[in-house]
Amino acid sequence: MLDILRRIVQEVNLAKNLEQALNIIVKRVKKVINVEVCSVFLTNENNNDSEYVLMATDGLNPEAIGKVRMSDKVGLVSLVGKRAEAINIADAEKNPRYQHFPEASEEAFHGFLGVPIIHHRKVLGVLVIQSRKIQKFSEDDETFLITVAAQLAGAIVHAEASGGISGLKQLDDEKEHESKPIHGLPGAPGVAMGTAVVIYPPADIDAIPDRHILDVEKEIKTFDTAVESVVKDIKELSERLKDVLPEEDRALFDVYLLMLNSQAISGTTRDRIREGNWAPGALRQTIQEHEQVFREMEDSYLRERADDVRDLGRRILMHLQKESHDKVDYPDNTVLVGEDISASMLAEIPREKLVGVISVRGSRTSHVAILARAMSIPTVMGATDLPVAKIDSRTIIADGYSGRVFISPSEKIINEFKRLIDEEEALSDELMELRDLPAKTQDGIEISLLVNSGLLSDITPSLQSGAEGIGLYRTEFPFMERQKFPSEEEQHSIYRQVLESFHPRPVTLRTLDVGGDKALPYFPIEEDNPFLGWRGIRITLDHPEIFLVQIRAMIRANIGLNNLKILLPMISDISELNEALGLIHQVYGELLEEGEEVVMPEIGVMIEVPSAVYQAGNLARRVDFLSIGTNDLTQYLLAVDRNNARVASLYDSLHPAVIRAILQVVESARVHGKPVSVCGEMAGDPVAALLLLAMGIDSLSMSVSSLPRVKWVIRNVTRDRARQILSEVLVIEDAKGIRKYLNQTFEDAGMGGLVRAGN
Ligand code: PEP
Ligand code: MG
Repeated sequence: MLDILRRIVQEVNLAKNLEQALNIIVKRVKKVINVEVCSVFLTNENNNDSEYVLMATDGLNPEAIGKVRMSDKVGLVSLVGKRAEAINIADAEKNPRYQHFPEASEEAFHGFLGVPIIHHRKVLGVLVIQSRKIQKFSEDDETFLITVAAQLAGAIVHAEASGGISGLKQLDDEKEHESKPIHGLPGAPGVAMGTAVVIYPPADIDAIPDRHILDVEKEIKTFDTAVESVVKDIKELSERLKDVLPEEDRALFDVYLLMLNSQAISGTTRDRIREGNWAPGALRQTIQEHEQVFREMEDSYLRERADDVRDLGRRILMHLQKESHDKVDYPDNTVLVGEDISASMLAEIPREKLVGVISVRGSRTSHVAILARAMSIPTVMGATDLPVAKIDSRTIIADGYSGRVFISPSEKIINEFKRLIDEEEALSDELMELRDLPAKTQDGIEISLLVNSGLLSDITPSLQSGAEGIGLYRTEFPFMERQKFPSEEEQHSIYRQVLESFHPRPVTLRTLDVGGDKALPYFPIEEDNPFLGWRGIRITLDHPEIFLVQIRAMIRANIGLNNLKILLPMISDISELNEALGLIHQVYGELLEEGEEVVMPEIGVMIEVPSAVYQAGNLARRVDFLSIGTNDLTQYLLAVDRNNARVASLYDSLHPAVIRAILQVVESARVHGKPVSVCGEMAGDPVAALLLLAMGIDSLSMSVSSLPRVKWVIRNVTRDRARQILSEVLVIEDAKGIRKYLNQTFEDAGMGGLVRAGN
């Protein structure tokens, strides 16, 4: 059964459009269950009502497709949708909910089984089977249908979102097609509109996107050259193995050669290139199609040939990529799209060409999102339903506020977003005017606004932003860019540059915080639960040789400047702090002994795990300041992985538990007279910043792109008003309610433009 299911899903995923996908579903399911009718109804939302429309059928009158529509008040199908559960009835006609559609010619059918197709809690439609016999379907049929529906929901969303692509040639005609937006997560604020450039890992044939080309002849030549190279490789391989492999085993190579030169592989790929797809995209389509044909064969020997097809595809692809034909020429207004965009991929694109980023995986607190915010690039993360292979070169809009993505949007949507982008620019110019003004409330309370950094390249924008210093310098970034641990001298030079550039403003250097989702290529850590494992201070205390070198480099870099502060990440136990302080004092003493004119910098602890919240007082007593890392604190308090798009709707730093934890930390620090800052992403969220101000946080450290908005908020409220808002928030019981209340408060105060696209 599992095998059948896998094949259906694979086939549906290869469908060129929604219509084809639905037709495959009804045909295959009807055959497997051996029933007379299988149909799919999709939900159509109209204002507050939804109706169910027959979209595909095998068994009912095909003329009825698109015509049979039922409101959610009548009909069995709509009852399945409304209840979001399966309905299995022996004789549908006898049921009071039954609605007769003469155009569907369904009089002859009695047995009815409908199951909902649900994606992310939303009913997308209903999958139905019907039989002539008056009978209840078996439990097996029911569970099979439920499994099929659950597996297909994602594929249906893909097909729907790609806007009914039925071949590359039609791409341009589809401008008018109103495709639904894909919902991802806000990654970096702002709106980007441009051309999608899909980036993919090399030699992964399934990841290759379709790409429109103009010079067909050149592309065919490139493909032929790659095939010739593979032929040559295979002949050489066969020759080399002559003495090792018996003749009959080497026959496989002859099969390969035959396949390579066949119409089925080479001919079909060439045809697809002629239709306007580039060679890797055409090859992907051909290979997937043939693999599918082989996988469906009854004969197990032939079924295994599917692996050979795939292997051949991979070989050709490698040569295509070697011929470096796929060196991307980035268009102006590139929106970078990919399954899992990494920080290094981002760095590959010339900054002046890059306007937006969309990643299928990850969330707001993933590294690439943090980097994108530092570079002020509107970003959508966790766009899990994005049909990546089908959208290269298409016009795309990324709304980094709401997390929506529009593929080949209509003129109407394009114009709407153009207006929003213009308004954004005007707002940005207005905000830039605040650059040299203090972050002071209308009743004269000042709060320091600092930036988060980690790359030497963000120093200039950070300086230009009017920041009062660096509140968090993530030293792991320079560690990540290298092939081995940087030496004391290398580190000294980086830290010195940062400290000098900001002098006399303070710079907080955080000691190495790797582990979790931050890996060093030369220091691999394999763990089942990396966020609960060996990370941050736990690693550096286990490797004092790394920690001591880093502290030496920091303290030496501070000589004559005295604007360094050191911050310790992931402290979850007092003993860790005591040990770290011991090592820092050891380094300080050694440097003094060596005759260096060093001073002891201020030391702070990150409060980012629940145990540190409850021991904030014990920690504060031992150090000079506390800094709350709300990214991890939210993850650990709510038990929600900060990088997992599937649970991202549960991750919100405005959760009442997080707010109360922050209040507790502020109180504990106050008892010991120590300042508290917030350096997680929450600090850069304008609505959250208002609450942090009210709580009495001394400084906020955020990505450079958030700073002007937060400053604007601070300058437009009084602390009393902020406190009043905080007291309202403290009686709301969930994050959604709190966010809604704060957004509305902003709208009412004419500050809506700070929290959504547009002015
Ligand atoms: C945090 O956890 O809030 C934080 C600032 O650190 P990082 O995002 O680097 O884990
Ligand atoms: Mg952290």
